[in-house]
Amino acid sequence: MTAKIIDGKAYAEGLRARIANAVKELEAKHGLKPGLAVVLVGEDPASKVYVANKAKQTVEVGMNSWEHRLDASTSEKELLALVDKLNKDPAVHGILVQLPLPKQIDSSKVLSALDPAKDVDGFHVVNVGKLSTGQDALVACTPVGSVMLAKDALGKKLEGLEAVVIGRSNIVGKPVAQLLLAENCTVTIAHSRTKDLPQVVRRADLVIAAVGRPEMVKGDWIKPGACVIDVGINRIERDGKAKLVGDCDYASCAAVAGSITPVPGGVGPMTIACLLHNTVRAACAQKSLPVPEM
Ligand code: NDP
Repeated sequence: MTAKIIDGKAYAEGLRARIANAVKELEAKHGLKPGLAVVLVGEDPASKVYVANKAKQTVEVGMNSWEHRLDASTSEKELLALVDKLNKDPAVHGILVQLPLPKQIDSSKVLSALDPAKDVDGFHVVNVGKLSTGQDALVACTPVGSVMLAKDALGKKLEGLEAVVIGRSNIVGKPVAQLLLAENCTVTIAHSRTKDLPQVVRRADLVIAAVGRPEMVKGDWIKPGACVIDVGINRIERDGKAKLVGDCDYASCAAVAGSITPVPGGVGPMTIACLLHNTVRAACAQKSLPVPEM
């Protein structure tokens, strides 16, 4: 079998187009223009690229975008003051503080200071708690994007599937597992202490790999026809060239799976699209408006 390639880039483009329509509709019908504020502290080159892309795509879908670039020496108190100002600003519906933060700042303190209603990254404990108790929550973007792609590849319904999530981080593994549980999958969460991981993965109709280990999951771990969502982004060097690879060994997994996300071009492009999706949802919730179809 050769797997169907799940085109995350195309799916994200379609999602952004639907978000742009939703934004137009909100502005026309309710005078609401959703707005996202992104805060970057310091000069981390990768973070600078992410923040620039977020701002560009926010503007492209017709939303307000604010970028707050703070010096690497910014104190925790100064950052908390900015968060407080953004929390109180009615034009700002979503706030994202780009991680990692410099050493002098306690990230968990900053994330807890965000108004949970504006926490479009879905990392605030209130949103994490709402997700795990089955309430409407703002959920972390990469997990949301991963589940959207799985649903699209598997014809919308995930109910009853055996899902194995490899990785239990707070930003990917755990929220993805919660989302799959809410879709009525039977969910196993595997991690570094899981015994006989290949055998555990072999029972999965849906595999979500979020490990951070280049090409760890091999084709002979995959049940024939399974859907494989590879969240991993690993920079390696091969044949003297820098290359991005996932947590799955793409060639051997694609030979067995029914569908698979490539790296790059799979889950990666979904993250910002889901951030914009969360911002529209947050704006509607703050104004007690129904969320348009996206
Ligand atoms: P973390 O390092 O926080 O978590 C990795 C998880 O994998 C841990 O739970 C760890 O287990 C588990 N693990 C590590 N080694 C093994 C192993 N040998 N066997 C089984 N499980 C193992 O990573 P993240 O969740 O933050 O990220 C995972 C991957 O996803 C990374 O490649 C990252 O770059 C990518 N990513 C991509 C995003 C995107 O597409 N936009 C966004 C976020 C992440 P334990 O808990 O026992 O240590």
